[in-house]
Amino acid sequence: MKLMRAPNVLIGQHWINVLSAAGISCELHNRYLNGALGEIPAEQCAPELWLVDERDEMLARKLIDAASNGPAAGTPPWRCHQCGEILEAQFTVCWQCGTARDPLDG
Ligand SMILES: [Zn+2]
Repeated sequence: MKLMRAPNVLIGQHWINVLSAAGISCELHNRYLNGALGEIPAEQCAPELWLVDERDEMLARKLIDAASNGPAAGTPPWRCHQCGEILEAQFTVCWQCGTARDPLDG
């Protein structure tokens, strides 16, 4: 089922990471590959987030809502315990290796 539209592929991919980390199966659709981007209005390039299992909808929306709004202001960056990458507080998943943030890491 279609969950929602992402503003762009990067954010869509971030949502995928967030949902995957929570064990939710999901896919990005409407991704234009192979360099077709230049000829298509940006609006139509916006990827759509699809859930494999619609029973995940409530949790998925909650997670994306949290990921979109980000943490409270002043939250410090965190270090990925897997690869050591320093990540801004609004990321809940390491973009480098895909490891979910460990709340105990601070
Ligand atoms: Zn990492």
